[in-house]
Amino acid sequence: MTFLEFKPLYQEAAVALSHPESQEEARVYFSHLRDLSLTGLRAGLNALIQHSSYWPKVAEWRFEAARAEARAAQASQAAMIASYEARREHERFIVCVDCQDTGWIFQNCPETDCGRRHTHGPHRYVVICPCRDTNAAYQASLARERARRGSDPTPEEARKIRERTERAVSDWRRLSGGQP
Ligand SMILES: [Zn+2]
Ligand SMILES: [Zn+2]
Repeated sequence: MTFLEFKPLYQEAAVALSHPESQEEARVYFSHLRDLSLTGLRAGLNALIQHSSYWPKVAEWRFEAARAEARAAQASQAAMIASYEARREHERFIVCVDCQDTGWIFQNCPETDCGRRHTHGPHRYVVICPCRDTNAAYQASLARERARRGSDPTPEEARKIRERTERAVSDWRRLSGGQP
């Protein structure tokens, strides 16, 4: 985000919350908010304007922006999952043959070396499948688990979800032949 993009937002906030505008303050706010997305800041500002009447501190604006981004990330992930579940109703299919959408790959040592250096007998072990981040089926089960726990993502989690979702959605488009 650039200062030119941010400034109208600052001005809108000042007008809506009857706060005197200052170029210096706008610069300071910008320097502490510039890592956030314009969409997130706008959504955060809307929440501030609608629910409070005092001028937000930087941290309060950041908090509302992060919360708005988390909600948007959840909504976008929910849409991807719904699209996956809809297709799954019509046909049983798996996205990743390596892990069967469990996120884990089972291996047998010594056929596949487990990495232990001391002499040991044959055993099974699991490794994390690299598909996890972009596998719609795995993400769907993760989301069901999260819904079951009923917990909201932290802003850090939300950022990861957003990145993951963007990758997953593009993978999903490729897999489902262009269907959103
Ligand atoms: Zn996999
Ligand atoms: Zn072993």
